[in-house]
Amino acid sequence: MIADNLAVIRDSLRRDDVVLIAVTKTQPVSVIREAYAAGLSVLGENRVQEAVEKAADLEDLPLEWHLIGHLQTNKVKQAVALFSLIHSVDSERLAREIDRCAKVIGKIQDVLIQVNVAGEESKSGIEPAQAAELVRLVDSLPNLRLCGMMTIAPLYEDAAQTRPVFREMRSIFEQLREKVADPEAFRWLSMGMTHDYRVAVEEGANMIRIGTGLFGVRTAR
Ligand SMILES: *Cc1c(COP(=O)(O)O)cnc(C)c1O
Repeated sequence: MIADNLAVIRDSLRRDDVVLIAVTKTQPVSVIREAYAAGLSVLGENRVQEAVEKAADLEDLPLEWHLIGHLQTNKVKQAVALFSLIHSVDSERLAREIDRCAKVIGKIQDVLIQVNVAGEESKSGIEPAQAAELVRLVDSLPNLRLCGMMTIAPLYEDAAQTRPVFREMRSIFEQLREKVADPEAFRWLSMGMTHDYRVAVEEGANMIRIGTGLFGVRTAR
């Protein structure tokens, strides 16, 4: 069933340069094993503790864990130990703490900067007007590698309404790419979820984060 859902999503993309992150939050380890068997090995989780516990049970599989949810500074140490990419850097304080924890374990931590393009109160992410400053700061921290940007669009009934949000994110991304120290590394634009990934990809996303579309409706969270 996961394999069928995956085939439908891949078909609808009509391109193979988009990384599909299987959002496995709330899903048990058995489902992750099924996802891996279907060809999914990049997983997105939004809670550090939950991901750490599941990863411990899945050490036999070559999985790549991405943190897509908000990160509290007291969870950074655990997060840096597990995640290959943190999508949700949205403050100087958080960036500095990730840099500090990465240094302790001798890691260069790949990160994206999350932007709250639509200015939703309920969402994390830095305001667009402050994005350039945070990009500069992250770029200057020696134990971080700035790999791109991430956004979550508002949940509109009609996914087409997300287009201006994704378009603005793309525009910010392109502008800042001209200013970063390593534009080759700064190449990921993480945007699009189950209901709006088609629009996101049309607007330039090359990482999409899909949960419901692969695994069905979550019962919790
Ligand atoms: C849960 C979540 C997703 C996946 O949402 P679906 O609608 O289930 O595809 C994507 N991105 C983030 C940040 C999430 O928290």
